[in-house]
Amino acid sequence: MRFEIPSGVEAVLQILTAAGYEAFLVGGCVRDRLRGVRPHDWDICTAARPEEIKACFQSLRVVETGLKHGTVTVLADGVLCEVTAYRTEGPYSDGRRPDYVRFVTSLEADLARRDFTMNAIAMELNGSLRDPFGGMEDIRAGVIRCVGTPARRFREDGLRVMRALRFAAAFGYEIEEQTAQAVHENRDVLDRVAAERINAELCGLLTGPKAGDVLRQYFDVLCWFWPQLEPLVTLEQHNPWHCWGGWEHTIRAVEAAPTDLVLRLTMLLHDIGKPGCKSTDENGIDHFYGHPSVSAQMADQMLRGLKFDNKTRNRVVTLVKHHDVQIPCRDRSIRRWLGRLGPEAFFQLIEVKRVDSMGQAPREVAGRLAELAEIKKQAEEIIAQGKCFALKDLAVDGRDVIAAGVAPGPEVGRTLDALLERVLSGETENDRKTLLELISCR
Ligand code: ATP
Ligand code: MG
Repeated sequence: MRFEIPSGVEAVLQILTAAGYEAFLVGGCVRDRLRGVRPHDWDICTAARPEEIKACFQSLRVVETGLKHGTVTVLADGVLCEVTAYRTEGPYSDGRRPDYVRFVTSLEADLARRDFTMNAIAMELNGSLRDPFGGMEDIRAGVIRCVGTPARRFREDGLRVMRALRFAAAFGYEIEEQTAQAVHENRDVLDRVAAERINAELCGLLTGPKAGDVLRQYFDVLCWFWPQLEPLVTLEQHNPWHCWGGWEHTIRAVEAAPTDLVLRLTMLLHDIGKPGCKSTDENGIDHFYGHPSVSAQMADQMLRGLKFDNKTRNRVVTLVKHHDVQIPCRDRSIRRWLGRLGPEAFFQLIEVKRVDSMGQAPREVAGRLAELAEIKKQAEEIIAQGKCFALKDLAVDGRDVIAAGVAPGPEVGRTLDALLERVLSGETENDRKTLLELISCR
């Protein structure tokens, strides 16, 4: 399928060529069009120098933040379009950014600085391609291959290691053999990449449809920035619930999870504490007592280290911590857990438990899945019926408790908890008058 080039992007190309400068679409937008996927951003490269680019777009809104590196962002007909002067890059002495960029006149030199062959194709408005590194063929074959010598390209910019893995997981492409070998051998360059940038690529990797394959083949790369994963990779678990080792179980759970970041991070980290909690009983059966709490603590550290935002981190930690709780399939228990976690986290937890079972011994799976489906159904009914399940749903609140004579302080919370417990257990109706009477009787 071919996607239309937005009219604004077309106009930008036309303005540049009308002014006498060569101009091409380049990078992700060309690659995605060739893959049959709608591009999500539009990059143009041109023979015009930065100042000349600026002069071309005086009548349009432009952002000059990247001017030093030759980039002008143009807002054309509602579409943001990055226009970059042909450039090559100086050495990367810090492994993060080029020491300098040099503007050049040749498109080929500009394409040669790009990371992978599939990202180094230029396209004219009429659809004709410039593809000096065989990117088209690699897209057709589903291959990720460095432009130039892989090791040198990874050592220039360590982020490319993670970009290779992210593209592999997102597109289901294979990393070509020499590029793959260089990924493994040069993973230490990640030390020089900012945590935020690793984070962004890791998120893309984990939410990719082929994340599992990448985790299987490139765990050593992940272990480089998250060494806590390493003991899990070699963990054996001999017990009736598991037929795989710790890492294969983890990968299967990640694969079974929807491509949602919180769920995928949770599955990647849910058993991270197992190696440290392992004990083997006299029958040779392995146990991992207390591993959910240990995993939650480790997950918290790992996510902090990679600068995840608080909301994502807290949710993942909560789900990891509770991934093994038994939720009895009873109205009261379900309401209690709904109240404790809130509906969103509750349903995520059911999903976590579902995909966790799918990574376990097959004969155990069917029964567990049926029970989880039933719990989910009941929880949905509880919510649909508006049945009380959390403190905020009680017919009385802290002010009422104080007005009824309880001294402000911790006793207020304890009173409300006790009332909620009575409502949940069915002893008392969630009725304001009844609850107020109960408080005054205390
Ligand atoms: P997507 O936008 O889908 O994540 P992309 O390949 O377009 O993928 P961008 O970050 O938008 O990624 O970069 C645009 C282009 O710039 C790339 O296609 C590639 O040609 C070049 N590029 C980006 N990052 C690098 C890098 N670290 N090293 C070399 N070239 C890069
Ligand atoms: Mg892009």
